[in-house]
Amino acid sequence: MPQPLIRIALTGNPNSGKTTIFNQLTGTRQKVGNWPGVTVEKKEGEIFKLGYHIQIIDLPGTYSLTPFSTEEIIARNFILDENPDVVIDIIDASNLERNLYLANQLRELDCKVIFALNMADVAKSRGYKIDAKKLSQLLGVPVVFTVGNKGQGMTELLETAVEVAQKPLSIPEERRVRYSKDIESAISELREFIRSQGDVPLPYNQRWTAIKLLEDDRIVKDRIKEATGGKSREILNKTEDLRRRLMSRFDDEPEIIMTDERYGFIAGIIKEVMSTSTFQRIDMSRNIDLVLTNRFLGFPIFIFFIWAMFQITFSLGAYPMEWIDAGVVGLSTLLDTLLPSGMLEDFILDGVIAGVGSVIVFLPNILLLFFCIALFEDTGYMARAAFLMDRIMHLIGLHGKSFIPMLMGFGCSVPAIMATRTLESRKDRILTILITPFMSCSARLPVYIVLAGTFFAANAGTVIFAVYLFGVVVSILSGRLFRTVLLRGEDAPFVMELPPYRMPMIRSLLIHMWDRSKLFLKKMGGIILAGSILVWALSSFPKESRYSPVYEAQIARITGAYAARIQTADPPEAERLKLEQEELIQKLSLAKEAKRAENSYIGRIGKVIEPVFQPIGIDWRGSVALLTGFVAKEIVVSTLGVLYVAEGDAESEALRHALKRSGITPLSALSMMIFVLLYIPCLATVSAIARETGSARWAVFNIGYTTAVAWGMAFIIYQGGRILGF
Ligand code: GDP
Ligand code: MG
Repeated sequence: MPQPLIRIALTGNPNSGKTTIFNQLTGTRQKVGNWPGVTVEKKEGEIFKLGYHIQIIDLPGTYSLTPFSTEEIIARNFILDENPDVVIDIIDASNLERNLYLANQLRELDCKVIFALNMADVAKSRGYKIDAKKLSQLLGVPVVFTVGNKGQGMTELLETAVEVAQKPLSIPEERRVRYSKDIESAISELREFIRSQGDVPLPYNQRWTAIKLLEDDRIVKDRIKEATGGKSREILNKTEDLRRRLMSRFDDEPEIIMTDERYGFIAGIIKEVMSTSTFQRIDMSRNIDLVLTNRFLGFPIFIFFIWAMFQITFSLGAYPMEWIDAGVVGLSTLLDTLLPSGMLEDFILDGVIAGVGSVIVFLPNILLLFFCIALFEDTGYMARAAFLMDRIMHLIGLHGKSFIPMLMGFGCSVPAIMATRTLESRKDRILTILITPFMSCSARLPVYIVLAGTFFAANAGTVIFAVYLFGVVVSILSGRLFRTVLLRGEDAPFVMELPPYRMPMIRSLLIHMWDRSKLFLKKMGGIILAGSILVWALSSFPKESRYSPVYEAQIARITGAYAARIQTADPPEAERLKLEQEELIQKLSLAKEAKRAENSYIGRIGKVIEPVFQPIGIDWRGSVALLTGFVAKEIVVSTLGVLYVAEGDAESEALRHALKRSGITPLSALSMMIFVLLYIPCLATVSAIARETGSARWAVFNIGYTTAVAWGMAFIIYQGGRILGF
């Protein structure tokens, strides 16, 4: 018999520990996606416990249920329209006052609510004592203490949720929210009026609808229009009347008055339920900040952390990289002996393995990079980095907050662009979105490792660091340019919130890395595999070129001529001749293959676009690789892998040897790295830009701008380098 279903929605202020509790409750049984229509992360998990099939949904973090941001609209619509069986509001107990605002708004809805007082440990260490029983009584909502990162209180939370879900909804008298006399009378008058209109179908409960109308809530107004059709005009007119009356009475917008009253109520609650012990523990966070955000030390320490991040990414990543590499080589050697020579073998070895294999070895590097970024976020250091960067960011007319998405851009531009949602000003947001793709994302890393490792072997690390730094500089300069030309405006003053430092949770870091690996492997099995196969097919056909017979004839002639000479020579001379012959034949075969490749379909495409890339020192193969990189940056490497690696060459480092032989110079390699750093972000990023700016025009602009900058910079570096004689 299937178990009955209970749906639990988790809501709460950002940073209150929602995701932590979600992970604790669901373990790894979770699905990550986006909310329909918008790219706000949607997490869902399901468990089978206490005799129920329990579905848990992690709603986006929000400070209130007033529709100011996408997050808030999603959270509210979910609670109102999807009717979860229970809503758990995760409250940061160490920040009770601010968190109770959302909690208080939840009380006004007709839904089953539980309050989880999370961060109970932090509250305690700060000397706050919270009387949960009294809080629960005063608000008419069950309250459970939890410590999310230690998993404390999880069982009780789940049991309470199930218990509440089983009982029918009853709103105790204490849960009713009261406003001051004038507001209450406006509410009743509006309800009265709605009732007098006869049988109007309201989308939500009557009192709440009336309150939201008085607050001029645009979404509720729209819903009323949809739901009540012709009657809506009278209702909205009446609302306007009442709003005007309140306005003249208070000399302020009703929504502001109501917000004030809610805060007043919360302040009262706090007085009732919370006491601060006189003995306060020394505030650890503040002490740490004395060093980390110090005027002189802060910045060098920050640079050190970033340097350490790249150091970890490369040095530590090198070991697992070798193992995977050995695995790939082993596999291809094995397949080489197992498979009969022919098309199938070519397809698997030169297409699939040369392509996917050349990228998959970078999984450890990418994971380590994401690990470091997650560590910055989880410990609370990210906010300090933003704080430190504030002054530099002001140079481009942005504030430090914009630096968080930029730093996340080292991982992947898509979540970074989504992270700009925390910026209030639309212009700031667009500006930040436009410059974030210059922060070199992890997908470009394989390109640098291959090129820098091959051509700057001893200084590869420094070169890569310089490339990253160059991206940051271009990003900042572009920001300055956009601010003066395109998106003029003052940066709004703001206070950077510095959340307390926290021990990162290994469990959540691991879940994050697991998510990332899944995404990466999916990309490997999907778009990169398909890309490699396509590039292989286009480069393998046609099998012959016009010149093939010429080369073959030459090879045959040489073989004949040498055979005669070897016959007559004495043994040591014969040995020498044999070697000479082999060398000549190999040269001719390579030349034949090169001609053939140029004549292949991809060679023809490359030849067409080559003139564009010639001035920046990139040959037709590099051009093709860059072209394919638009789909995803890793494909640049897999394309190089397929195009350069000679047939059947299964040794590790094959790509590097091939690149060395190919006529690429350190200077043209550098030019290519710079081009890859700056040019068109990948398809996923371009569509994220279009979605988040709400206009395809910005995405198109970004494509044009980045490509122009990339070409220009690569040109300066390549031609400049040549003039200087490199
Ligand atoms: P969300 O924004 O609401 O999803 O918050 P997260 O789940 O990402 O949590 C923010 C941070 O708080 C993370 O670093 C957690 O490890 C930490 N955290 C969560 N719950 C607790 C808790 O009860 N006590 C302490 N000390 N830290 C917590
Ligand atoms: Mg979260």
